Amino acid sequence: NRRIVLASRPVGAPSPDDFRFEDGPVSEPSDGELLLQILYLSLDPYMRGRMSDARSYAKPVAIGDVMEGGTVARVIRSRHPGYREGDIVLSHSGWQSFALSDGTGLRKLDAQAAPVSTALGVLGMPGFTAYAGLLTIGQPKPGETVVVAAASGAVGSVVGQIARIKGARAVGIAGGADKCAFVRDELGFDAVADHRAADFAAQLAAACPEGIDIYFENVGGHVWDAVFPLLNDFARIPVCGLIAQYNAGPDAYPGPDRLPSMMRGVLSRSLLIRGFIQREFVDQRPAFYREAAEWIASGRLRYKEDFVDGLDRAPEAFIGLLEGRNFGKLVVRVAPE
Ligand code: NDP
Repeated sequence: NRRIVLASRPVGAPSPDDFRFEDGPVSEPSDGELLLQILYLSLDPYMRGRMSDARSYAKPVAIGDVMEGGTVARVIRSRHPGYREGDIVLSHSGWQSFALSDGTGLRKLDAQAAPVSTALGVLGMPGFTAYAGLLTIGQPKPGETVVVAAASGAVGSVVGQIARIKGARAVGIAGGADKCAFVRDELGFDAVADHRAADFAAQLAAACPEGIDIYFENVGGHVWDAVFPLLNDFARIPVCGLIAQYNAGPDAYPGPDRLPSMMRGVLSRSLLIRGFIQREFVDQRPAFYREAAEWIASGRLRYKEDFVDGLDRAPEAFIGLLEGRNFGKLVVRVAPE
C-alpha cells in the first residue's frame, strides 16, 4: 500500500517536501470490515486547512498521518454483510492506494447512473456546496444578477448554472482567457470577467450593468475588492471559500485597515454576509442528488473534470490547485476502473 503522509506543516504555499511517500503491506480485513482499492482521489482546497494547525472548523491532519480526502473505491474483499466484492463506493480514505473500512460513512455508487468520479465533483461535495449555499443563503430570484468566482471550478461552475436554472443572470469570474471562454461558451453563463486581466474591475462592472444581487464568494483578495462596490442594496453574499488567502499567514495583510469602510457598506446597503460549511445543510442532500441528476440528464447542468494520472502526482496537482493550474474538478486517477 502506498500512502502519502503529511511530513511538515507548510508556511505559505505548500511544497513537495511537506509530503512523504510511504510503502507498506496491504492489510487483510477482519470480521465486519472491507478492503477498498482506491480508484479516484479528490483534491480540494480545504486540504490546505488540514495541513495547518491554526484554529478551524475541522481537526488538522497530524504530522505523519495519511493526508485526508474523499475517494471513490472498489471493494476488493468484503467481510461486511452490506457489501460485496466489486461494489463501488464513495469513501473518505485519503491519499493512499488501499484502505480498510468498517462501512462507516460509505455510500454505494451506481456506475450505470453516472460516471463514478462525479461523486467527488458535480454529484458530490462540491456540487452540493454550490446548491445549498446558493439556494439557502443566496436565494436567487428571476432577473437578479448572480456573480461567482472560480467559475470554471467544481463549485463555481455549478453555482452559475443553478442560478440560470432559477432564472437569474450568471456572471462568472475566472483566471485567463481559456477558462473565461469555457464558462461563457460551454457552461452558458451570461457574461464573464478575467481576474488576471489588468482591467478586471472594469470588465466586472461592464458585465454587471445593474449591479450584483448575489455574490457567491469562493476567492477573497482582489476579487472581493472589485465586487464590493458593485453590490446592490439587500445583496446576499454566501461566503463559501477564500482560496486566494489560504496560503497567506496571519500577517499577510498589513494595513491600512479597511474594515470600517466595509462595515459602513454592510450597514448602508443592508448586505447579508453569511459564511457556511456545506455539512451544515446535510438534510438537503437527498433533494440535491435528485435535482442535480435531473439537471445533468436534461443537459442543463454541465461539468468538467481535470484528471491527473497516478497517486504520486497528487502533491504537485494539489499545489497547482492553490495557484489555479487546474481546469475543472481536480481528480487523481489512482487505479484504473
Ligand atoms: P476549484 O475547482 O474552483 O479550483 C480552485 C480555483 O480557485 C482555481 O482553479 C482558480 O481558478 C481559483 N484560485 C486559486 N488560487 C487563486 C488565487 N490566488 N486567486 C484567485 N483565484 C484563485 O475549487 P473548488 O470548486 O473545489 O473550491 C472553490 C472554493 O469553494 C474554494 O474556496 C473552497 O475552499 C470552497 N469550498 C467551500 C466549501 C464549504 O463547505 N464552505 C466546500 C467546498 C469548497 P481561476 O484560475 O479561475 O482563478
